[in-house]
Formats: sequence, structure tokens, C-alpha cells
Amino acid sequence: MAQPLVLVVEDRPMNAKLLRDVLSASGYDVVEAADAETGLAIARERRPAIVLMDIQLPGMDGVTAVRELKADPRTAKIPVVAVTASAMPLEREAILRAGFDGYQAKPISVKELVAEVRRLVAQEAEPRAG
Ligand code: MN
Repeated sequence: MAQPLVLVVEDRPMNAKLLRDVLSASGYDVVEAADAETGLAIARERRPAIVLMDIQLPGMDGVTAVRELKADPRTAKIPVVAVTASAMPLEREAILRAGFDGYQAKPISVKELVAEVRRLVAQEAEPRAG
């Protein structure tokens, strides 16, 4: 059985490696992008089950990238979780308003991150009636 694919958009190799290791150990396939432009191209081409998106990226930032994903019918339904050091409550609200489906603060809690990925992937796989 194919494992759900997670797209990790993260410019810092150590952060990307941590996410890759955690997700691989939790039963997911992982594809990585080090910038938002590459991430958008991969999302359109491979339609991952979920995207984990850093906010501060070289070039396009994560907030702009989530808006592009949500505006594109090919990728609009893919859940996108912000993974960011911006942990202030107001910033969290702004991040959720920007279109993210979830939010994980760095340093990440492995348990919370995996739980949120599982919840959002399951929701997308079995949408509620109506
Ligand atoms: Mn970054």
C-alpha cells in the first residue's frame, strides 16, 4: 500500500532532516523543497496528501506560497501546516487567517506534529458528507 506523501518546504537542512526523519518513521513518504517556488511546482505535479510549510524562506515566503496553493484548483484542497518559529499569539492568528490549515511552532513537538499530520491527512482522505 502506498504511504501518504508529505511535502516539506523548509530552507534549513537540519530542520528539513528532522521533519523527514520523523515523518518517515511515522509511515509517510517525504519530498522536500528548499524554497517556496520549488514547493509550489512539486505540489502541482505530485499532489501530496499534506504540505508542511516554513514561513521564512528565501524568495517567496510561506504565507504567499499558501495563498497560491489555496488559489489553485489543483492544490486548493491539500492541507497546509505552517511550521515556524513565529510563536506569538497574534502571529499565529495571522498565519491561520492567511489560509493555513494548521500551525506548529518551532522547536517542534514530534508528538503534536505527527498527530496534526494524521488528523489533517485523514480529514482530506475521508471528507465529511455535505
Ligand atoms: Mn526558514
